[in-house]
Amino acid sequence: MKQYETVIGLEIHAELNTESKIYCSCRNAFGQEPNTQICPVCMGLPGTLPTLNEKAVDFAVRMGHALSCRINSVCRQDRKNYFYPDLPKAYQISQADIPLCENGHLEIMIDGAEKTVGIMRIHIEEDAGKLLHDASYAGSLADYNRCGVPLIEIVTEPDIRSSGEAKAVLDTIRGILRYLDISDCKMQEGSIRCDVNVSVREKGSSELGIRCEMKNVNSFSAAVRGIEYEAKRQIGILESGGVIIQETRRWDDAKGMSFTMRTKEDAEDYRFFPEPDLGTIVVSEERIEKLKETIPELPNAKVFRYVKEHGLPETDARLIADDIDKAKLYDECTALGKCRPKSVSNWILGDISKFCNDTGRSILGTPLTAEKLAGLIAETEKGRISSSAAKTVFRVIVDEGGEPCEIIERLGLAQNSDTESLKQLAAEILAANEKSVSDYKNGKKNALGYLVGQCMKASGGRANPEIIRELLENLLNG
Ligand code: ADP
Ligand code: MG
Ligand code: ZN
Repeated sequence: MKQYETVIGLEIHAELNTESKIYCSCRNAFGQEPNTQICPVCMGLPGTLPTLNEKAVDFAVRMGHALSCRINSVCRQDRKNYFYPDLPKAYQISQADIPLCENGHLEIMIDGAEKTVGIMRIHIEEDAGKLLHDASYAGSLADYNRCGVPLIEIVTEPDIRSSGEAKAVLDTIRGILRYLDISDCKMQEGSIRCDVNVSVREKGSSELGIRCEMKNVNSFSAAVRGIEYEAKRQIGILESGGVIIQETRRWDDAKGMSFTMRTKEDAEDYRFFPEPDLGTIVVSEERIEKLKETIPELPNAKVFRYVKEHGLPETDARLIADDIDKAKLYDECTALGKCRPKSVSNWILGDISKFCNDTGRSILGTPLTAEKLAGLIAETEKGRISSSAAKTVFRVIVDEGGEPCEIIERLGLAQNSDTESLKQLAAEILAANEKSVSDYKNGKKNALGYLVGQCMKASGGRANPEIIRELLENLLNG
């Protein structure tokens, strides 16, 4: 069998979290009673005129900056005409040949290596309504609340080479949207969706193969499954001497298969033309620069800093940086300079993440502040409390609040590092465990671990384990 390479390009739609819709003053809110967030403008009634929400432009320009795009300070909006019951106007206002942003790029990290994926364009457009299919009603129900919700469409170059890379692109883009706070990115609410273009070609070939575009990809994991299925399907056709037909396919995630929707011959003609009811969009250079200043340090830059300056392993750095809440706590905590960054990372990815998963609470929703976490870790690093006592203190802070030092005092959790009293404890344990002592002397060095454990138990977990180990060794070898 020949060697094949998969080529992928993504079209990602993200709903912007502006207060109001893109061309009218209806609220942009998810989960409301059907057909309560609508008005004559977003229903496209005759005689109405749209007014562009400038926030949507600002949000798109900010995303353009984050993806290093060129911003087209003068651009236009166009009508894309098609008939579908979820679109009462029978056209969608979008941008055709001149998008707001173009020619950008995105860095992804994949298996420890960095890769650049080109961004063709980012444009603004309006969302359509939603059709609901209720078993109790023989027909479709239309909810128009989503009509006119602002969207940005981010189109990548066909630079992606595997489902893993596609997943990395989607995760990275979602991370950036969250950092910029311009989209809720809730897959289950459909606030971020994507169409996946897939082709295959012989390895080494410089020409692109014929692509299929897959729609109805409703989650990032469905994108991964869809790409893998589609590449296999196309390779199967080529291997059996067939040719790929350019077509739009529908991904059925439950069946794990894609099906033909329409081929190039019956491709839709959208009859794009300039939107006559809206003026040219003109964004001043000054405004473009101002918006650039609002871009915070983005996840990729954070990963780089955590690895280079803090010595974190890349996977840990990525896990923290991709989650804005984790990154906030990590940055604030390490900025205090009271404890090692690696300890902060271990806490956030370990006990804190586990607590949030178990309780469904968010990191920023507990009384644990960066100061408290840094204080708790510092006490542990100084050897004042054991790691198990630190877990106890953590639980008290998140459940009831309070200061680490005060909790340590109140619960008597301070570790005993007093050599004199520990020496006495060690001697007592040795006297009570003659068998282990003779085992140790006969070469069974792991008997020491058991003896340390006995001392810890007898001290109620408060003996400093390092000091105990040293004292026991001295006594046994002395
Ligand atoms: P169209 O205007 O016909 O939709 P575009 O040039 O806008 O085509 O590309 C749409 C998407 O398809 C982009 O994400 C692009 O990267 C991707 N794409 C284009 N050609 C191929 C190909 N041969 N294989 C895979 N993806 C492709
Ligand atoms: Mg396209
Ligand atoms: Zn409206």
